Amino acid sequence: MNTPKADILVIDDTPENLHLLSDMLTQQGYKVRSVTKGMTGVRGAIAAPPDLVLLDVNMPQMNGYEVCQQLKQSDRTQDIPVIFISALGDVLDKVKAFAVGGVDYITKPFQVEEVLARIETHLTICRLQKQIQNRNQQLQQEIQERQQAEEKFTKAFRASPHPIAITTLADHRFVEVNPSFVRMSGYTREAILGQTSDDLGLGFRPEAYEQGLKTLLATGSFCNQEFEFRTQGDRWRTVLLSLDRIHLAETPCILQIINDITERKRLENEFISLVSHELRTPMSSIIGSLDILSTGQLGELNEQGKQVLKMATTNTERLIRLVNDILDLERIKSGKINLQKTVCNVADLLTQAAEAMQAMAEKAQVKLIIEPIEANLWADPDRILQALTNLLSNAIKFSEPQGTVWLKAEKTENSPLTTHHSSPYSPDALFITVRDEGRGIPQDKLQSIFERFQQVDASDSRKKGGTGLGLAICRNIVEQHDGHIWAESSPGKGSVFKLQIPLSAKPSASS
Ligand code: ADP
Repeated sequence: MNTPKADILVIDDTPENLHLLSDMLTQQGYKVRSVTKGMTGVRGAIAAPPDLVLLDVNMPQMNGYEVCQQLKQSDRTQDIPVIFISALGDVLDKVKAFAVGGVDYITKPFQVEEVLARIETHLTICRLQKQIQNRNQQLQQEIQERQQAEEKFTKAFRASPHPIAITTLADHRFVEVNPSFVRMSGYTREAILGQTSDDLGLGFRPEAYEQGLKTLLATGSFCNQEFEFRTQGDRWRTVLLSLDRIHLAETPCILQIINDITERKRLENEFISLVSHELRTPMSSIIGSLDILSTGQLGELNEQGKQVLKMATTNTERLIRLVNDILDLERIKSGKINLQKTVCNVADLLTQAAEAMQAMAEKAQVKLIIEPIEANLWADPDRILQALTNLLSNAIKFSEPQGTVWLKAEKTENSPLTTHHSSPYSPDALFITVRDEGRGIPQDKLQSIFERFQQVDASDSRKKGGTGLGLAICRNIVEQHDGHIWAESSPGKGSVFKLQIPLSAKPSASS
């Protein structure tokens, strides 16, 4: 072994013994100190603690037991292993030797191997004991640090003004919620724990939540995404949801941190709708005036004048579209528009939507193909048409000339949504897809484009004449029909918007 050998103190009043032991140990590479008096040995040990003490039992003045007792009384020497040495004729009180703190004894005459083996054994035990003590100390410190961190987390969890919940990763059951969450949800903590969002009908869109979880697991973060949260009294709150991973008692869990922005949204909506209402009247009057100018009643315009007039008309029309979309969205969201549901023929709906967009498609040199089915749908036909024309208009807008846009309807009995989530659907649902071969949508935007004013590219509204509200309106219309809408895309290859509406919300209306 390369490690330096230990420091051994030999206390024996017989000089021959001392020499014998000392020579033997020195030969083996130990560092040896030897003394003949018990008191000198104790002082020497306290002044410079050795790794082990070999101690004669029978000594004048202070015998071995007393020396050992003294060594065990001092902090500096109490952990040093003491091995007693006794001559063959001596009476060694073994019980007393162990009682005063000895770890072993050797009887003279010694066998070299035995002495060395015993010394090595006790040095090893002592080293291991020290290691264990150090490790224990480290563990104690870690436990203390963890307790402190846990205490901080618990305090922040309890006192946070933001609703926070912890759910299991495996089956989404609530394992803990803070008082703010309890307050916002309207349920008691006991009613929430053990349940899932679906069980309580908290209204998080399941497919958006699943997508959020996937994003979190893939990228390590999911922050501030807008969700609607349904409280116990059936009141809806608009919240920003952030997710993070944590472990609770070895179980992988999800930390949901919620920021309730309902009031901010209400003020924002109020402001937008107020401004929109105020804008509508003057804008109608502007468009009227532009119309009169374009008829030439007030005098013919030269070419430049006509161009300026055209630009003014295009921009005013865009503004009117924006204002109308804002007001529409607000009315649909607030339930001010009552759905006029009736039995609609799906093939007729698709044909009407395609006819309405035919002119736009031709202008953009895009081919429009419809693949209808014969089925009846219980829905508000005007609103469904509004959603379909919005989706078709986007598909055409974002297609290249010579591209194709497909509008297809199918009946589905086992849709991806109904198999993954508990869903209010009857098994028969109408599944409509609007597919294009256009520029596509990046993965990280597939959710957010359904929010108000969210566009993939900030210049889209200017370049493509959109308002950033079309998909928000579509989603509201589809959700009012108890349906779902989502998008899939391969950037560069095209996008597909999929919507699914139960066919037989009214049993008699199913085909
Ligand atoms: P807009 O009036 O801007 O079209 P929407 O809410 O209808 O507003 O769409 C939001 C954004 O989603 C668009 O600005 C565009 O960036 C993206 N988008 C929508 N449909 C498509 C599509 N078919 N192909 C590519 N991007 C699309």
